[in-house]
Amino acid sequence: MRFEYAPAPESRAVVRLRDSYGLFIGGSFVSGSSVFKTISPATEEVLAEITLGGAEDIDRAVAAARHAYERVWSVMPGRERGKYLFRIARLLAERAREFAVLETMDNGKPIRESRDVDVPLASAHFFYHAGWADKLGYAGFGPSPKPLGVAGQVIPWNFPLLMLAWKIAPALACGNTVVLKPAETTPLTAMLFAEVCQQADLPPGVVNIVTGDGGTGRLLAGHPGIDKIAFTGSTEVGKEIARQCAVSGQRLTLELGGKAANIVFDDAPIDQAVEGIINGIFFNQGHVCCAGSRLLVQESVAGPLLDALKRRMATLRLGDPMDKNTDIGAINSRPQLEKIESLAASGEEEGAERWSAPCPLPDRGFWFPPTLFTGVASSSPIAREEIFGPVLTVTTFRTPDEAVAKANATQYGLSAGVWTSKGSLALELASRLRAGVVWANTFNRFDPGSPFGGYKESGFGREGGRHGLEAYLDVVATDVAGTLVAGDV
Ligand code: NDP
Repeated sequence: MRFEYAPAPESRAVVRLRDSYGLFIGGSFVSGSSVFKTISPATEEVLAEITLGGAEDIDRAVAAARHAYERVWSVMPGRERGKYLFRIARLLAERAREFAVLETMDNGKPIRESRDVDVPLASAHFFYHAGWADKLGYAGFGPSPKPLGVAGQVIPWNFPLLMLAWKIAPALACGNTVVLKPAETTPLTAMLFAEVCQQADLPPGVVNIVTGDGGTGRLLAGHPGIDKIAFTGSTEVGKEIARQCAVSGQRLTLELGGKAANIVFDDAPIDQAVEGIINGIFFNQGHVCCAGSRLLVQESVAGPLLDALKRRMATLRLGDPMDKNTDIGAINSRPQLEKIESLAASGEEEGAERWSAPCPLPDRGFWFPPTLFTGVASSSPIAREEIFGPVLTVTTFRTPDEAVAKANATQYGLSAGVWTSKGSLALELASRLRAGVVWANTFNRFDPGSPFGGYKESGFGREGGRHGLEAYLDVVATDVAGTLVAGDV
């Protein structure tokens, strides 16, 4: 049954949009040579003019970061660095509503998600890493682990503020300085974060933000003054960066795509599993690298589960992302919508059966209805490629072995979900699934203390938790030092 809701729009009044934004270099906003526009994907309205960072801007930003690294940040005691991180965390929490509204305007995600997930988690990430800043000697990487230097960080558009927090918080806690490039379509919360850095009195040059397009990202990733590159985005670009680093010797972590299996056994509580499947694939319009985009259902319960899933999908509310009742917001950009449409069309051409929730799509903006495919051949592009949209493929299995074989038959290995009432089965599968994160009877749960990352073409390195610190510390050098100390004893 579908309930009608009165509209409950969030007010935009809390956000003070500027007409144009400069680059944040050396603690100040500076202009660049050219600009582009960022739009709201829900209305196609132009929100602001953004500076397109070029080679000179990247040079300036890297120089500012190097200066701050050598003179201030790397020599500052960890307990002092921690205070800045705490301050940033608190400011993010205090200005949470402003960040949530701006994120939803620029990205198209429902305000419910930016308010309840993106912004609180971003703040939590800074709180968590603030706690590490003066305890790095106890993290298991030697008695006095050293930072790497200047980190170049390139992030995508699906969780703009949260990915910024995942990148900047551990880097700063470990004593590195950063140059970050946000995605072309979602630069606004990064610019608001730059204001927070000023408000927190962060020393100039510790955080530098250079907006721009893929070319700007390439310039940053290829800059010889960068000691470490952290990239989240497509596998294709990740491979390009990995090739560069193989020659330059720069340290690298890659968090790339995924094609996660969400596996439902016949003893799982069906209603709970349906909610988990919905959350797994329709959260953030499916623009989630760890989305549960491949549903594997035990054959004996496939019929009732699919009926329940379609009933639930039909109640999802798609539309104005600023409305607090909205479940499914806008697709982030026209190119991404075209990619989803083309992959969905290829699924139909290959004979898979498509079912989309019967929801009206707004006239303006970029929209795609929650969709599932049954009868999907495992060789089909919709079963293999990351669609990065609200599209679920459904396959059945009979035995746990078959479920594991099908789940692992992908070039990706980022996440997986298991739904069963048997703890032993969940644990056994967790050990056999080639995925960096395995959720049992839940999906898409994130915590700053829990490491996240992939196998195979999903990338390498971990973000979050104690493991995530390793990516920003000179672990090789400290291991050697640690061995020498142990040898002396
Ligand atoms: P990209 O990998 O192109 O973008 C990710 C980030 O890298 C953006 O900031 C982008 O800048 C930048 N970038 C682009 N080209 C280069 C380059 N050669 N060197 C350095 N940085 C670069 O992803 P797209 O936005 O094009 O999305 C394409 C597909 O990638 C999606 O459909 C999805 O399948 C996948 N994807 C996966 C993500 C994940 O979290 N794993 C996140 C985003 C996308 P700009 O935005 O300015 O182009």
